[in-house]
Amino acid sequence: MKKFIVDTSDTYFLDEIYNNMEKLCENYSDILNKKIVGESVEGRDINALKLSSGGKNKPSVLLTGGIHAREDFSVMLCMKMIDYYCNYYKGGKTLNGFDVKNIIEKTDMYFVPLANPDGLNIVHRGLKSSINYNKLKNMKIWGKDHTYWKANANGIDLNKNFDDGNWDIRTCTQGTDLPCSEKFKGFAPNSEPETRALINYCSENNFALMATYHCSGNCTFWADSGTHEMFKGLDEKIMDELNKKYIYRKTKVSQDPKTYGCGFENWFRARMKRPGFCIELSPFSEGGKQHPDSMFDRLVWPYAKTTGLFFAEKAAEVHNEIYGNIEKYAALTRN
Ligand SMILES: [Zn+2]
Repeated sequence: MKKFIVDTSDTYFLDEIYNNMEKLCENYSDILNKKIVGESVEGRDINALKLSSGGKNKPSVLLTGGIHAREDFSVMLCMKMIDYYCNYYKGGKTLNGFDVKNIIEKTDMYFVPLANPDGLNIVHRGLKSSINYNKLKNMKIWGKDHTYWKANANGIDLNKNFDDGNWDIRTCTQGTDLPCSEKFKGFAPNSEPETRALINYCSENNFALMATYHCSGNCTFWADSGTHEMFKGLDEKIMDELNKKYIYRKTKVSQDPKTYGCGFENWFRARMKRPGFCIELSPFSEGGKQHPDSMFDRLVWPYAKTTGLFFAEKAAEVHNEIYGNIEKYAALTRN
């Protein structure tokens, strides 16, 4: 059996993440490949990894990490899931009851493990390590130091930058209406290259479902009032199953687009018209201070490691729901 590649025992630095992406693709070249889907403000690659056993027009799922800079756990989880799922696929093994091989044969899994590489670099190495330092140095940091950074290297919070139709009413709390470490939506919708990379990638593909990983509160944001009705209960059905299997608390349907608008998951629901889930991977911590990276294996992995497989299975169900009727119709007309 092949050894695992991703080491999440402590801080997972950028060069290690990028090296591991290469190494994983080399090790599992028949099922895993990498595509550059965009470039960050500072010119770093935004990579997507596709885990597929081949075949055309299969249901597919997108899993994303690292939209918020300081949320290291979300990046670690995506990378470790890729490593484990490839390994288990090859070994024909089940992971906590999930038949990995069978799931990957049925569904293509796409990962963007690190959507905001510049932000993560700031969290790890400080503002001075950014080539945008002169622009960033006067921006307010909400929190003690650079380890609290959430935005990209323009001081824009990517998870408030998406054009989901709520741009004009989306508000920023007092003091976050200009570039800073978090919560500033930007000067225009979809203004950031990282935002556009995710939008383009979704538009080029046909994901039946999307999950985006974040870090605070051990809960799930699964619906908003602008799109909830469109899914005719399918989103809640998936949410309730998730709730039964995992530790993530079910929240209420987000009601006010002034405060929920312009997030990636909101955009995905509104524009791609498919269910989108946001999972908060770790317990809430006061003031946004993150738990130490060394706690990932204890605090996150045991609970979250099969969530990617769970969403892949649900993507297949959503796919059938969407196309089932079309296929039935096609079969009828063929006869
Ligand atoms: Zn977040």
